[in-house]
Amino acid sequence: MNIPFSPPYIDQAVIDQVLDALKNKWITTGPKVKALEQEILELTETDATICVNSWTSGAILMLKWFGVKPGDEVIVPAYTYCATALSVLHCGAKPIMVDVLDDFTIDPEKVREAITPKTKAIIAVDFAGWPCNYDLLKSVIESPKVRKLFKPQTDKQATLGRVLLIADAAHSIGSTYQGKPAAKKCDITIFSFHAVKNITTAEGGCICLNLPAAFNAQEEYNYLKIYTLNGQNKDALTRAKSGGWRYDILFEGLKINMPDICAAIGLAQIKKYVQTLLPARKLIANEYLNGFKDQEWFMAPSLVDSERESCYHLFPLRIKGLTEFHRDRVIDDLTALGIAVNVHFIPMPMLTCFKKLGYEMKDYPMAYRNYSNEISLPIYPQLTKTEIRFIIASLIKVVNIQVNSMQNGMVESEMLIPVRL
Ligand SMILES: *Cc1c(COP(=O)(O)O)cnc(C)c1O
Repeated sequence: MNIPFSPPYIDQAVIDQVLDALKNKWITTGPKVKALEQEILELTETDATICVNSWTSGAILMLKWFGVKPGDEVIVPAYTYCATALSVLHCGAKPIMVDVLDDFTIDPEKVREAITPKTKAIIAVDFAGWPCNYDLLKSVIESPKVRKLFKPQTDKQATLGRVLLIADAAHSIGSTYQGKPAAKKCDITIFSFHAVKNITTAEGGCICLNLPAAFNAQEEYNYLKIYTLNGQNKDALTRAKSGGWRYDILFEGLKINMPDICAAIGLAQIKKYVQTLLPARKLIANEYLNGFKDQEWFMAPSLVDSERESCYHLFPLRIKGLTEFHRDRVIDDLTALGIAVNVHFIPMPMLTCFKKLGYEMKDYPMAYRNYSNEISLPIYPQLTKTEIRFIIASLIKVVNIQVNSMQNGMVESEMLIPVRL
């Protein structure tokens, strides 16, 4: 077998949409981006949606929009993709990493402890599509004690009057919270449309605004659109249509707009997302749950409870009692069988960039624990029943080999590469 980890969903409808953009002879930001933004607006029920060229650039944009600058702090989980913290560094501010809960999401109590007068924002990560506990996070940032610490330094900060809550929703388009789109739970929700995500535009992202009533969503949308285009007051399409050559640069904007040729891919996919693509992912998750339920070592991922439902972006199972060394052997064995799996994530304090900045893995014991025995299995609509059965049977086989080798007295000190704490 040769089962890739997360190939993009490219059907005839996707190809037709891209061809349509090519044939229309309009390939950069234009009608396809507008149509994609409209689809996302309907899916998320938020107040405004702005497409950009990646999650990362969207996060930098929104931190800059809020006025995050050197001397400020932004709280992030230690357990995420590097971009969550890099976006903060790119604004000159300091990412304050905190530990996660057993379900991989940021620990609201640790957030409370980390808030200082320098804190301007929190970026919470909906790991694997599983929304963070936003009710708790909101009660933290809205508590009078925490509000009193907040020191507004820009108009936006004064208007909000408290710490900004951003969802790193790179994984979680289509997730729900209390029966509504999870994107409605935060001030700002940012999706990624990178090639491996549930919906892709090859590279891309989308910012959803869900700000308090003191903000005018339409005005913020207009301002942010200009921000994504070098601060230029007329976009290329407007100029092409009106024939007007004159424009102005209003402020030092970024250049992070999404091209139509990319939006076309996502536009074709999102039209099928709720009806077809998302249920297909859920079906596979249920096959896995059923396939592994009798295995003593199986620790199921958080996918649904009375309040939240994941969009099944990943199937991040954990293997009870397995050490990092033996987990890596399981991955080698699956790879040898032609099954591509992944680990989400290598916690940031284990990466050179963050080690150099002084972050230490020993400060995040839950993140290490969650990482050490985690494996993400393939989960996407194109997976066949035969492939799913093969993955289930193979994982059971190779895990049992490793579990036995651990139990049969393989001395840990002989087997283990030094734990990379
Ligand atoms: C993919 C991902 C990102 C980055 O998305 P880009 O669109 O590649 O910038 C950020 N955060 C998380 C959790 C991700 O998985």
